[in-house]
Amino acid sequence: MAEVLVYVDHVDGAVRKPTLELLTLARRIGEPVAVHLGPGADTAATTLAEHGAVKVLTADAPEFADYLVAPKVDALQAAYEAVSPAAVLLPSSTEGKEIGARLAVRIGSGIITDAVDLEAGDEGPVATQSVFAASYTTKSRITKGTPVITVKPNSAAPEAAPAAGTVEQLAVTVAESSKGTKVVSRTPRESTGRPDLTEAAIVVSGGRGVNGAENFPVIEALADSLGAAVGASRAAVDAGWYPHTNQVGQTGKSVSPQLYIAAGISGAIQHRAGMQTSKTIVAINKDAEAPIFDLVDYGVVGDLFEVVPALTDEVKARKG
Ligand SMILES: Cc1cc2nc3c(=O)[nH]c(=O)nc-3n(C[C@H](O)[C@H](O)[C@H](O)COP(=O)(O)OP(=O)(O)OC[C@H]3O[C@@H](n4cnc5c(N)ncnc54)[C@H](O)[C@@H]3O)c2cc1C
Repeated sequence: MAEVLVYVDHVDGAVRKPTLELLTLARRIGEPVAVHLGPGADTAATTLAEHGAVKVLTADAPEFADYLVAPKVDALQAAYEAVSPAAVLLPSSTEGKEIGARLAVRIGSGIITDAVDLEAGDEGPVATQSVFAASYTTKSRITKGTPVITVKPNSAAPEAAPAAGTVEQLAVTVAESSKGTKVVSRTPRESTGRPDLTEAAIVVSGGRGVNGAENFPVIEALADSLGAAVGASRAAVDAGWYPHTNQVGQTGKSVSPQLYIAAGISGAIQHRAGMQTSKTIVAINKDAEAPIFDLVDYGVVGDLFEVVPALTDEVKARKG
């Protein structure tokens, strides 16, 4: 069976969920071979094997941390040359997309970014994308070279499928030309304890209806009861009520969670562009004519300051 390279996103060997989703999708096309760069390969290998990796190719070098993505592209290219895979899959993070694009240029292949599903096809993998502010769903296949595909988080439920997960060292030579941009300092982001917005299975977002930064704890309380990330519309962000890093939409983050709850958000096209592929959408809005109700699975016409706390209490009560 053909091998499929899966680029591993991890923090010191703790594998992030989008990679487990990639392994699940990779198994539809062939045998997943994971590429783990940086420290923690042994820890990662256990998780990767549990989710179907037949092999884990690993390399660690100071250059992976000291420079921007180019040394990692050198390593992924080395894995590509060692394996001759049927496809290369990466998570659709900013880094994943840059590494994928650079690899595709180097190996003369086409690339598909932000796929939301993947299936095997007679002439290569077929990727589903949601395009033009999620107005169209397209299916595409790469016709040139080895398909390089980046997949959005939450596109598949990770499934366990134990495999050998044999760890093999990858020989990597970092090219001088890959050392053009050195990282000179790092400032860790203050942790909120909430999941990352683009990877979260549940997102609770607030808009202009939240009516002030001082009211956002109402949204945060619901998010925390559900273990969700907090999002915001541009109106809320522009008003300075919530950080830009949490903006959902065309000029913010694109999210695709299992559940998206929009409170006090009207549903402008630019907001929809960033959340319309969510699996289940719930809106709370006091205006029954708000356009957001056109795309929801469940809508509550009501004041968010009554509905959201009641929902939070109910979630907490059911959790015991
Ligand atoms: C180039 C461009 C890019 C953009 N990018 C983005 C983007 O990335 N993300 C984004 O979100 N927007 C973006 N916008 C802005 C977008 O057009 C809208 O202006 C914005 O999404 C509106 O935010 P909102 O829904 O929070 O506010 P509004 O449209 O003002 O809606 C507020 C809603 O809250 C409801 N409400 C008020 N009080 C309550 C209450 N107490 N309880 C319940 N409901 C209540 C109202 O009925 C209303 O429907 C962009 C615009 C442009 C031109």
